[in-house]
Amino acid sequence: MFKNPWLKSLWELMYPAPEFCPFCHTGIVPEGLPACGACTARISPSMHRLSLARYQGFAVGVYDDYLQYLLHQIKYLNQYQPAVALGKIMALAAREQPELGSVDYFLPVPLHHQRLQQRGFNQADALAAGMNQVWPHRVCSAVRIKPTEFQSGLSPSERVKNLRRAFMLTNPAAVRGKRVLIIDDIFTTGATFYSLADLVHSHRGEPLGLFLTYRRS
Ligand SMILES: [Zn+2]
Repeated sequence: MFKNPWLKSLWELMYPAPEFCPFCHTGIVPEGLPACGACTARISPSMHRLSLARYQGFAVGVYDDYLQYLLHQIKYLNQYQPAVALGKIMALAAREQPELGSVDYFLPVPLHHQRLQQRGFNQADALAAGMNQVWPHRVCSAVRIKPTEFQSGLSPSERVKNLRRAFMLTNPAAVRGKRVLIIDDIFTTGATFYSLADLVHSHRGEPLGLFLTYRRS
C-alpha cells in the first residue's frame, strides 16, 4: 500500500493496528484498558475485603471460573503478558481503595529460586509489574530462603510452621515506618501472607495485602 516508509509510519500513527486482548486473543482492547470488554466483564473486578486476624487485605476477584482458568494458563503455559494485564486490572481496582491510598512500596511474594528456574518467571512479580504501569510505586523485594513445595498437603497450623522464617527482606531498613503492599495471585489460608507480613512488621513496617483472587472457604 505504501512505497514510502515515512508515509507508512504516519498512517500507523494515525490509525494504529487494533490491540488484541491478552486473555482471549480475539477481542479488541479499548485504548487505555488492559483487556477486551467481554473478558473484563467475565473477570468483573471489584474489591473484596478479607477478614484477617491481623493486618488489612483485599482481593480483586474470587478464585473460580474465569480467573482460575487464566491463572492456570499463566502458570502452566508460562504466559507473562496475561499476568501483567491482570496486574493492571488489580491496580485499577486497588488505587480507588482509600486504605491503600498511601502505600509506599509494592512487595511481590517471592518464589524459591528452584521454582523460579522451573517456571521462568514469578507470577507475583509480573502482577506487580502490571500494577506499576498504571499505579507506579517503588518495589521492595524479599527472597524465599526455604523451598515450600509441600504446602498443599498440610493443615493451616502446619503451613504456618513450615513457612516460619521462610523469607528475608533484601533491604530490611527500607520498610521502617513504611506502608508495604504485599502482592500475590491467590489468598488461600494466608500462611504465606502472614509469614511475609510478620517479617515486614518485625522491621517496623506496616504490611497490607493485595491478592488477585481469594478462595471462598
Ligand atoms: Zn478478551
